[in-house]
Amino acid sequence: MSTVEDFLTGQEEQQVIAAIKSAEKNTSGEIRVHIEKTTEKPPLERAKEVFWLLKMNETKLQNGVLFYVAVESKQFAIYGDRGIYNQTKPDFWNSEKELVVSHFAKQQKVEGLVLAIEKVGEKLKNLYPFTSDDADELSNEISKG
Ligand code: CA
Ligand code: CA
Repeated sequence: MSTVEDFLTGQEEQQVIAAIKSAEKNTSGEIRVHIEKTTEKPPLERAKEVFWLLKMNETKLQNGVLFYVAVESKQFAIYGDRGIYNQTKPDFWNSEKELVVSHFAKQQKVEGLVLAIEKVGEKLKNLYPFTSDDADELSNEISKG
């Protein structure tokens, strides 16, 4: 059974962080990844909770997106802030979620995350193009809890 610490290798974590940095070069949106051991709650509900705990609701344009992973519970969700939700449909991230889940099932964890981060980045780019005064409002490091 994989734990939070060995879910991704150090090198794989760097690949994920690089994907986030690269996505954020094209959008003012902010992407974060949180990995924890278990959740009793439906993953989207827990993702929303973590989103607030990480203060991801504090971006100027309300355009943060959280990738939430519960390793032992084998749960995954993508949660986006109100700014995005207001302009899209609730199933907006479904294809990216499916991409991650299908890769996780094949033990291609980093591949799934990186591909989905790229795709989420493209969608964010359309909604929130990068601006010259952009700040990196949320850390690109992987959050573990
Ligand atoms: Ca930014
Ligand atoms: Ca960031």
